[in-house]
Amino acid sequence: MRFASLGSGSEGNALVVEAGSGARPTRVLLDCGFSGKEVERRLARAGLAADGLDAILITHEHSDHIGSALTLARRWSIPLYMSWGTAQAVGADEAGVDLRVLWGDETVEIGALGVLPYTVPHDAREPLQFAFSDGAARLGVLTDVGESTPHIATVLGGCDALVLECNHDLAMLAASRYPPSLKARIGGSHGHLNNEAAGAILAGLDCSKLRHLIAAHLSQQNNTPELARAAMAAVLGNAATEIGVASQAEGFDWVAL
Ligand SMILES: [Zn+2]
Ligand SMILES: [Zn+2]
Repeated sequence: MRFASLGSGSEGNALVVEAGSGARPTRVLLDCGFSGKEVERRLARAGLAADGLDAILITHEHSDHIGSALTLARRWSIPLYMSWGTAQAVGADEAGVDLRVLWGDETVEIGALGVLPYTVPHDAREPLQFAFSDGAARLGVLTDVGESTPHIATVLGGCDALVLECNHDLAMLAASRYPPSLKARIGGSHGHLNNEAAGAILAGLDCSKLRHLIAAHLSQQNNTPELARAAMAAVLGNAATEIGVASQAEGFDWVAL
C-alpha cells in the first residue's frame, strides 16, 4: 500500500491511497476538495489520472472536502462513497452519480483495499473518517475532528501510518484576528484539533507499529509546520517514526508501507 496527499488544509483536501500489485492496483481518492481542473492537475503531479480511480470517498460536506467530487464522479463514472447524511447535504442522491452509502464501522472492500469508515465529532451532518488496510499494512486518517473519543482511539491503534490533523496552535488561534465566534467554532468539541490535542490523541494510541506520521489540515494563519512537527515529536520521543507535514500547496509525496 502507498498513499500521497494532493493538498491538505482549509482550502482543499485530497488523499490518494493505492493497494495491490500488478498492472492495475486499486486506487481511491479520499476527499476531492478542489476544482475539477485542480484535482486533475494535482493527480497528474502524483503520476495519476482521474480515469484511473476506482472510488472517491468523502468524509463530509464541507467545501474543502466535497469540492468537485460530484462533477468528477459523474464525468469519469467513478463510484462515490459517503454517509447518507453527507449525501443528503450535498444532494448526491439526485446528482446522477453512482452513489454508495457508507455506514460507520462497516468495512467495505474496494478491490485490494479494506476501507473502514468511522464516526467522529465534527460540525457536519454525518461525518466519517477512514482507516485503510491491504491485509498487510494499515493507514489511519483523522482530520476535521473536535476532540477524541474512545472509539477513535480504538480504530487508530496499531496503524503503520497515520495522517493526523494538527489544525492550529492554541496561542496563535487565541491571538489571531478571527472573530470570537469563529475561534469558538474551530476550537470547540465539533471543530478542529489543535497541536496539543493531536499530541494527546497520539499519546493514547498503540504506536508500536507506527512508521509514518503525517501532520495534516494545518491552518495557514494559526499554525506552522515547525510547531506541528514539534508537538508530534514531543510525543513520539526517539521512536523510529518518520514525521511529515502535509501542505496546502503540495500535500505530501508518496509514502510506501
Ligand atoms: Zn476540512
Ligand atoms: Zn470540516
